[in-house]
Amino acid sequence: MEIIYDYPLYRPPSEANSMIFQVTLGCSFNKCSFCNMYRTKEYSERPWDEIKAEIDMAARYYPQTTRIFLADGDALNLPTEKMIQILKYLYANFQHIERISCYAMPKNLLQKKDDELEALQKAGLNMFYVGIESGNDTVLKKVTKGATYSSIVRACLKAKRHRYTLSCMIILGLGGKTYTTEHARDTARVLSEVAPDYVGALTLQLEDGIYEEFMSKFGEPFIALEDMDILDELRRLVQDFNPATPVIFRANHASNVYSLGGTMPQDKERLLATIESLKSHPELLKPKFLRRF
Ligand code: SF4
Repeated sequence: MEIIYDYPLYRPPSEANSMIFQVTLGCSFNKCSFCNMYRTKEYSERPWDEIKAEIDMAARYYPQTTRIFLADGDALNLPTEKMIQILKYLYANFQHIERISCYAMPKNLLQKKDDELEALQKAGLNMFYVGIESGNDTVLKKVTKGATYSSIVRACLKAKRHRYTLSCMIILGLGGKTYTTEHARDTARVLSEVAPDYVGALTLQLEDGIYEEFMSKFGEPFIALEDMDILDELRRLVQDFNPATPVIFRANHASNVYSLGGTMPQDKERLLATIESLKSHPELLKPKFLRRF
């Protein structure tokens, strides 16, 4: 038996082996100019009866489930009481849960009151994946992210204060050549200030269907970064990334020019040396046709 999903369905790479329940469909914001994940869907909250039936079925066939990811784009947008109802039912039906996670926008986190985030944490929601994309306000505005440096920091620190594990995504190349310096500098700054548990770096790939919108919203000619520029941007970002607590940093997404990772700040010199060496050996970079966003 399998759950019948409403496609397209997305989950973070680290949730590849997790059981996925779609508690919402689409993204309640759906306006970031680089993202066409949910453009074919209108945001909606799935009825309790449907969610319950899927949990019942999955619990019967996959009782050993340990990790659960709540989809789609921002399940945290659900009213807190409904999310608690879902969490309670999941823990009642799966005896081996180690982690329940979902995507969350800075806006979702800021809209929840402190006592709501605390109640969700106590009900067993453990982890958020937050797409912060950039720390630079100009870039964030040009890609219509609906967040600023300040709102990202407030949202992420709020989640940390309530003991959630935090995994943040950033996008290399998002500001193009014009803003590469500011994008690297301020993204390193926001990551240093937040010090999430994990950081995943993706590289911008504009897919068909979103290209025109991205260019028009950018408001000025967008000059995409070449592979060597991406490595320079990554080098600057790693150089300036100085978290006070250890952060697992990975640039191993399918979109990247090369897969690398380590723990910051302790692996900084090794990562910088790898990036320098790649600049001298472009033949080691992943062929373009193998990269996906
Ligand atoms: S990047 Fe996230 S918040 Fe923005 S439109 Fe895509 S799913 Fe929604």
